[in-house]
Amino acid sequence: MIRVMVCGAYGKMGREVLKAVYNDGDLDLVGAMDVNSGFADIGELIGKGKTGVIVGNDLETVIHSTKPQVMVDFTNPDAVMPNIRCAIANGVCPVVGTTGLSVSNIEEVKQLCKEKQVSALIAPNFAIGAVLMMKMAQDAAKYLPHVEIIELHHDQKLDAPSGTALRTAELITKTRGSFRQGHPEEVEKLAGARGSDYEGIRIHSVRLPGYVAHQEVIFGGLGQTLTIRHDSISRESFMPGVVFACKKVINLDGLICGLEHILN
Ligand code: NAP
Repeated sequence: MIRVMVCGAYGKMGREVLKAVYNDGDLDLVGAMDVNSGFADIGELIGKGKTGVIVGNDLETVIHSTKPQVMVDFTNPDAVMPNIRCAIANGVCPVVGTTGLSVSNIEEVKQLCKEKQVSALIAPNFAIGAVLMMKMAQDAAKYLPHVEIIELHHDQKLDAPSGTALRTAELITKTRGSFRQGHPEEVEKLAGARGSDYEGIRIHSVRLPGYVAHQEVIFGGLGQTLTIRHDSISRESFMPGVVFACKKVINLDGLICGLEHILN
């Protein structure tokens, strides 16, 4: 059994992760943490009655008292780095789903893993369908280099564009390089009308109640378009990936970014 704790336990993703880890036969849910105090028993959060595992509000204390091997983090862009630093300093392997980490954050985690000989996994999207969407988009860009991305999320999301959209754009850029799309003299009558720009790829972020996590990658060619779309219609879609990552992370070599690198 692999000992797992969850950061962001009261959040939308955190609760789903508690349920998935608790129900998995190879994982032992030993601890949970959230900044909101309340000290709920996790069983009450996931409809299982009392389990004796209480949500703490100080990560260092939870780690020392529950001795996890893996820390799953679904918090927010400000909280995630202090949590990762604390986990690695205590020899705990982070599995990070929180989005909004910068390139320098990733470099720091890589370095910390090396120094402390701890492994970690960071994935902007744990849904297998989204991983396939990114892979297909990277392949399609070989033949159809003109592409724009529309990502659609619930209106409580803090970061834009989404981690998945950025990762998709990064992968497409590896295939097609950087260039400016659209008319060279196009003018935005309203700032932001053409979306954000990653190496020439326009990314449009929609935030509305009702959505979970969705993305379209639209390619345009002579007389044709190709749309690759993925929809996470519930947060359960991320759970097989999270559970799989918890089982794999302790045997990885340093930091791995992206679920696709551990699937085979
Ligand atoms: P959420 O509902 O706001 O949950 C975040 C929880 O973390 C809240 O309870 C929050 O408390 C708590 N928190 C804040 N600071 C903390 C800290 N220092 N330590 C521990 N807990 C802390 O957000 P969500 O929808 O679950 O999403 C969480 C993250 O996961 C976001 O970055 C989102 O983009 C990402 N995400 C990733 C994937 C993926 O597959 N990788 C999928 C879905 C979402 P407060 O409410 O008091 O701030």
